[in-house]
Amino acid sequence: MVTTLMHILYGTMVALTFKLNLPLFLIFTNLPDLDALLDVLTDNIKYHTYLFHNILSSIFLLIIGSIFFSFKLVFIALFLHYLLDIAYKREWLYPFSKKKFGFVTFKKKYPFWVYLFYDGNIYFTIISLIIFILFLLFYFF
Ligand SMILES: [Zn+2]
Repeated sequence: MVTTLMHILYGTMVALTFKLNLPLFLIFTNLPDLDALLDVLTDNIKYHTYLFHNILSSIFLLIIGSIFFSFKLVFIALFLHYLLDIAYKREWLYPFSKKKFGFVTFKKKYPFWVYLFYDGNIYFTIISLIIFILFLLFYFF
C-alpha cells in the first residue's frame, strides 16, 4: 500500500516537472484511494483491492475528470497513481476477473490513519523523502 504522503511527494514532483496545476494534480493522483474509505468503515482491506484500482474504474475516472479538467493532467495523475500502486496485488481486471496481479500482498499492520504517512516500508519512505528533497533543491535553486 503506497501512502497518501508518497502519492503527494511523487505527485508534486511530476506536476512541477510537467508544469501542471499542483492542487488539482494532487487531488486526481490521490482520487483512486477513496475506495479505502469504505475499508476504514469496516476496518478490513476489501474494497481497496479492486473498487477504484482496476482498468474499468480508471477509464471511468479519466473520462469523468476529463469532462471538467485537462485530459493531460487527469491522465498523468491517474497513471502516476497506478504506477506507484502496481507492486501490490490487486484485482486489476475487475469485474472481468477476480485474479489478483502484483508482487506484494498487503497486510494491515497499523491503524488506517498511519497509512496516510507510513506503510511499513522504511527504505521506500526514506529514499522517497531524499529524492523529494533533492528534487526541490534542484527545482528551486
Ligand atoms: Zn491506490
